Amino acid sequence: MNDIKDLSSYKNVWIFAEQREGKIAPVVIELLGEGRKLATEVDAELCAVLLGKDVDGLAKELITFGADKVYVADDALLEKYTTDAYTKVIKDAIDEIKPEIMLFGATHIGRDLAPRIASRVGTGLTADCTKLEIDPEDKKIKQTRPAFGGNIMATIICPNHRPQMSTVRPGVMDKAEQDETRTGEVIALDYKITQDDIRTTVLETVKTKKDLVSLTDANVIVSGGLGLGGPEGFEMLKKLADKLGGVVGSSRAAVDAGWIDHSHQVGQTGTTVKPNLYIACGISGAIQHLAGMQSSDFIIAINKNPAAPILEIADYGVVGDLHEIVPMLIDKLDSVDDLLEAIKA
Ligand SMILES: Cc1cc2nc3c(=O)[nH]c(=O)nc-3n(C[C@H](O)[C@H](O)[C@H](O)COP(=O)(O)OP(=O)(O)OC[C@H]3O[C@@H](n4cnc5c(N)ncnc54)[C@H](O)[C@@H]3O)c2cc1C
Repeated sequence: MNDIKDLSSYKNVWIFAEQREGKIAPVVIELLGEGRKLATEVDAELCAVLLGKDVDGLAKELITFGADKVYVADDALLEKYTTDAYTKVIKDAIDEIKPEIMLFGATHIGRDLAPRIASRVGTGLTADCTKLEIDPEDKKIKQTRPAFGGNIMATIICPNHRPQMSTVRPGVMDKAEQDETRTGEVIALDYKITQDDIRTTVLETVKTKKDLVSLTDANVIVSGGLGLGGPEGFEMLKKLADKLGGVVGSSRAAVDAGWIDHSHQVGQTGTTVKPNLYIACGISGAIQHLAGMQSSDFIIAINKNPAAPILEIADYGVVGDLHEIVPMLIDKLDSVDDLLEAIKA
């Protein structure tokens, strides 16, 4: 474990700049947004740690999104993620440079890597955080995450060990703004890694061909639940979503019923979303669903039960049968299209 007396030598906020195939993961931009707030409050620099091969361009991109410093390990052995190699390089960097706070996206890679590093370094890790704040009194980070199926929000601190580490749920934090004129420092990490350090061999990376939905990037999400009455209900929602330039989401109950793929699921065990517009059709508004969408900018709920909890958080609620209301909405949008066409003509 870290020497408790040594805490003051740990400084700055680090974020793990996850990249795949030379592209920065979207969650990294969110971590830079959140990391900037934390860094300002603890009066520290915001730094990114970037591992990969030929990632110079990515380092510059991270600076435009707010990183003051980017620590880079550029190596063929780091091209593809492996637990062994990434853990070794980052653990050594932490020992050497001593960050105070380190954030990872709670992606598959982040969830694999962060616990391994925390255990090697001998520090605390809070997984899947949805809120981070600095305690104004002692400047320690308060890490909040849902527990017990979302029924409890647990706030966790790491008082005596450094760095204070969290994985952060994708889609929850605000993205950093890009500013092409920002400047920062790119620093090569002094690392040692050989093929012998890596026990995993990546034979092949397979991408599944299922209909991938990018719920986190969508501005508009039209979501359906058990109230749709069957899988064909989603076809109707798809029409509405297409009209609005959005994508289709769902409740877990609809996924469990086999009506739609899990990649569409919104909620605590699905994706957390924050679109400009979220339309909930036939969704009751269970706490586990709300946990994934309640910070959407504008929420419309269509439900035949006036007591459905979703109506309490909706900006605009329609009490009625969605099989009547959704086709009416599509119709109305069609006439707007016609009107626009007529104006253009
Ligand atoms: C650990 C755990 C994790 C979970 N994670 C998630 C998660 O990530 N996401 C998630 O969604 N759920 C999750 N759940 C499940 C959650 O608790 C609810 O069971 C689920 O959200 C209910 O889905 P629903 O709203 O589609 O169905 P229901 O609760 O059955 O609601 C259907 C709604 O449709 C309305 N309705 C019916 N017919 C019509 C109609 N014709 N027109 C208009 N309205 C109609 C009804 O009034 C009702 O409000 C989780 C549960 C647990 C225990």
